[in-house]
Order: sequence, then structure tokens, then C-alpha cells
Amino acid sequence: MRSYAESIALYEKTRKHLAGGVSSNVRYASVPVPLFFARGEGARLHDVDGNVHIDYVLGNGPAILGHAPKKVIDAVAASLGEGQLFAAQNPRETELAERLCALLPGADVVRFSTSGTEAVLMAFRLARAFTGRDKILKFEGHYHGWSDQAYISARPPLNEAGPADTPVPVAGSPGMPPSVLGDVAVCTWNDLDLLEQTLERHRGQIAAVIMEPIMVNGGAIPPAPGYLEGVRALCDKHGTLFICDEVITGFRVGLRGAQGKFGVTADLSIYAKAVAAGFPLAMVAGRRDIMDTLLDKGVMHGGTYNGNVQSMAAALAALDVLEADDGKVYRDLEARGTELMQGLSALARKHKLPVLVQGMPAIFQTFFTKGPAPRNYRESAACDRDAMLAFHAALQEEGVRSQQAGKWFLSTAHDKPVIEETLAAADRAMAKVAH
Ligand code: PLP
Repeated sequence: MRSYAESIALYEKTRKHLAGGVSSNVRYASVPVPLFFARGEGARLHDVDGNVHIDYVLGNGPAILGHAPKKVIDAVAASLGEGQLFAAQNPRETELAERLCALLPGADVVRFSTSGTEAVLMAFRLARAFTGRDKILKFEGHYHGWSDQAYISARPPLNEAGPADTPVPVAGSPGMPPSVLGDVAVCTWNDLDLLEQTLERHRGQIAAVIMEPIMVNGGAIPPAPGYLEGVRALCDKHGTLFICDEVITGFRVGLRGAQGKFGVTADLSIYAKAVAAGFPLAMVAGRRDIMDTLLDKGVMHGGTYNGNVQSMAAALAALDVLEADDGKVYRDLEARGTELMQGLSALARKHKLPVLVQGMPAIFQTFFTKGPAPRNYRESAACDRDAMLAFHAALQEEGVRSQQAGKWFLSTAHDKPVIEETLAAADRAMAKVAH
């Protein structure tokens, strides 16, 4: 049995002065306590008890190049002496914005922010200012940050969520004023007819439809064939903006994100996480006429740390790596991820476990279900969560750290030997949970 004595002692000590012992609520989800890590290196994390973990959480997505990637670290280190914040522009912003606009679908202009939550709020404000409408349509199980405006029906208890064909908005946290629910319409994802009905019901009121173009937070689920194209067409028909939240999928499922993969272009897109390979950076990218409202209509967007020198340096260095050799990084990532997904499926068959491995090679999920592949949040929530948690705990014991919710993020540091080591550990973990 691995010992977590140091983590447990540190957690007890930390709780005395750091609320809840963590800096983000999602970090409670760890056994036996929120673990403390001393350092990360490539595909591995070293905890304070000396346990080594092959890491498939990767900071919940950002560490696309693994932990402490040398080229990014060197670029950031070289920038440190230049200062951090000028409350003014620095030339790296010019270079990064130019490169991102040349790369990303629909990006005439970008605006930098510091977290995904803030970038979502900027996109909502832009959409409302541009269309003159108040409501945002979002989908059950899609997470767009923890703000009052967005943390609605991200993981609603099904007994509060209403019928599947007319879901009701559910506030995700105490302390959110009920008034925010009036500005949100909620819909079940991956169902075009339902979206059309919902848009009709709120005709002329919806400023924007926002979604994760590949749902990750509510279960790693790809869009049904033609779904994104259908959403695009419905948004155009209703004069509603289409916002793709690519905070997870951007720079992960491909250099041009999910939109590049599926050939659909949103009006506004949100990127964060992998774009700066672990440093804090988010942005809204989109149509010039919408983004111009920041200046023309005086739409307010601020942020002390936006465009800071180190995040710009990190993103530029990360882009150098990700763009090299005409996307070889992504071809390799896809090959390794496919190997891991297929390997886990084969092991599940060997151990007669009802495991469904679904998603994209760089971000996938192990569902415990005998049923058909889940297509939306409600179907994903019906999978066996207890079995998933037991598998997660068994994997951790064997030196593999996946997300408790069953998600696996991959990085370029997860090479063939790491994948093989992972599959050997998963074999032992599945043997344990199968008995
Ligand atoms: N949007 C999506 C799809 C996310 O997964 C997240 C965070 O996990 C956010 C927005 C919020 O980003 P942040 O945690 O940087 O505020």
C-alpha cells in the first residue's frame, strides 16, 4: 500500500489557514486527501511522500507538453528579468496575437485574459452588446467556469433538472442570486431538434449559444455527425452568436482545436489551458465586427494580469513546439492516445469489466457502462460512478493518476514506454476491481 502520511499531515496543517485546505474546490476530489506534490517532470508527478505518479490529470488540461517543458521554462526564465506587468503593452502581445489570428478558425482578432472563467464572461458581454439581447443558451453538463452567469446546469442533480426535453436552469452553488437563472436557457446537447425548439421558444432573446464543441466536463463525448454544422446554421437563422468554449479542446485535440477538426467556425471562441502549456493565459478570439465593440461601443474588459510578460513568453514558446514539423506533435499525440484507448478497451475485455473508452486520443474518458455510448450529460451521469471511483483509486495505487471523474489527459511527454507502463498498471488495477 502506498503511504500518503505526509500529504495527510500537510492537509491537516493547511486547513487551519487555507480555506478547505485547497485553492480550488475541484481539488477536493482526491484520495485519501487532496494530495501535495513536490514536483512535476514530463509525464510524472512526485508527491511529498515520495510516490511517483504517471500523470493523466496534467493540471486539468494545460500541461500539453508535460510538466516543466524545457523550451517553455527556458523562455519564461529568460523573460523574468524584463519585469512582469507594465499596466501597458509589451511587444510579445503583438507577436502572439498575430500568430494566433493566423492560426485559429474565425480569429480576426483576439483579446487576452487570465482565466477561462473571465474569458467566458467577456464573450457573454460582447455577445449581449453586439446583439442587444440578454439571454445565453447553454447545455447541460457543459462547464464554462464558476461565475454566477456561467455555473448553471454544469452538473445538475437530475431530480432538480426538469424533463430532458425542457431542462430547467439549475444554479451550481449557494450564493448565486436566483435572478441569474432568468438570463439563461438550458438545452440537452447533441440534439438539433431540441435546440431548434428551444431557440423558437426564446425567439429574438438569445444573444449566444455557448458549448464545449466536444463535451469534456460532463463526460468526454464527441458531437454527433453534423451536429456542430446544424448548430451553426440554427444560430445564423436566429441571429444568435455561436460561442465555442475551447478552453479544454483548444491546442489539445489539434492545433486548431475542435473547430479545426470538425470544420465549423464559431463567431467567438474561448481558449485557455494548453495555449500557454501551464502558465495562466486565456483569450477570446473571434469576428472583428463583434470584437470591435470593445472599442466602438466601449464594452468593458479589464484584468491586471492580462497579457503579462511571462504568460506571453510561455505561449510563444509553446506555439513554437506545437507548430513544429507541420503538426507532428499532434500526430504523435493521437497515435499514443489511440494506443492507450485501445489498450484500455482490450484490458477491460480481458477482465470482463463494462468499461467504455470514449473521446479523443488527447482527452478521453473511461465510462463504466453496459449501455450504449453516452451522447449527453444525462446519459453520462447514468454511468456507474462508484465503479469509476474504485478504478481511479486502484490506478493511483498502481502509480497512475487519472481524473476521479474518469477523464484522461495526454501530453507529448507520454511516450511509448510511458503508455506501456500505464497499460501494465491498468492491467493490475482492473484485476483488483474485477474481484
Ligand atoms: N471552460 C471550460 C470548458 C473549462 O473546462 C474550464 C475549466 O476547467 C473553464 C471554462 C474555466 O477556466 P478557468 O478554470 O481557467 O477559469
